[in-house]
Amino acid sequence: MKIITTAKELKEYVKNVSFQGNNSIGFIPTMGALHQGHTKLIKQAREENEIVVVSIFLNPTQFLKDEDLNKYPKRDEADKKICQLSGVDVLFFPSVNDIYSDDEASILAPSVRGFVLEGFTRPGHFNGVLTVVMKLLNIVNPAKAYFGKKDAQQLHLIKLMVEQFFMSVEIVAVDTQRESDGLALSSRNAYLSKEERQEALRIPQSLHLCAKLVSKNIRDRDEIVQKMKEILSPLEVSYIEVLNRNFEVIKEVQLGNSVVLVEAKVGSTRLLDNIWL
Ligand code: AMP
Repeated sequence: MKIITTAKELKEYVKNVSFQGNNSIGFIPTMGALHQGHTKLIKQAREENEIVVVSIFLNPTQFLKDEDLNKYPKRDEADKKICQLSGVDVLFFPSVNDIYSDDEASILAPSVRGFVLEGFTRPGHFNGVLTVVMKLLNIVNPAKAYFGKKDAQQLHLIKLMVEQFFMSVEIVAVDTQRESDGLALSSRNAYLSKEERQEALRIPQSLHLCAKLVSKNIRDRDEIVQKMKEILSPLEVSYIEVLNRNFEVIKEVQLGNSVVLVEAKVGSTRLLDNIWL
């Protein structure tokens, strides 16, 4: 596995492999502290591409001023081992100065779909996400880039950006990897105490209930949200929302075209999860 730390060097590498005709690059952008959710994306990319590139970059522009970027878990050595064992060809580990300069253009998230739900609790967050994803895609120039369905709003906005900016990369959505008890894997789970880890199970339980209600032909948004709230109530719920796949609020679940999203705080940790119906 090659470790590359500058955009310039990575662009050179990409140019060389495309000269040799091996230009099917699969790319997985991450912020590190890798877990089995990330390796699921890497595994799929490994199966579908000749070359797999993973980036680890803790992107400062997607954190709000009051969010502690320095507290984000960092496990560089373990991450390198995980990438190596997962068959990654190139690990891109840039510094902040290599990605950003003092005065530059940026991408703004759409004013409606970028500023509701997680964009409402974290205003400006998706501007930072889209800007860094655009930069990384321009450096790596992959045929396919892999993103988790767990971050459904992020995935939707990235797909929208790729479409609206006429970019040629294919965005591949990968199912959420869960622990055996249902909790979605997340780097943020590292913040949870033992008790909080147990309380966090209310989130997948509420989504499980949602699926059960829908399977019993209950499709009404308000009824579903109300029943989910009963399970989630000890937690501080930021939102429960029923949307179609175009991220518009719907009053009734439409099978094959819906996603139900939950964001709740467990202690001081904000956790996201969802179910695609
Ligand atoms: P992050 O390092 O949190 O920025 O995540 C990098 C990528 O991994 C994003 O596309 C996430 O949606 C994806 N991801 C994170 N957790 C999971 C999970 N449990 N299952 C599948 N994908 C995930």
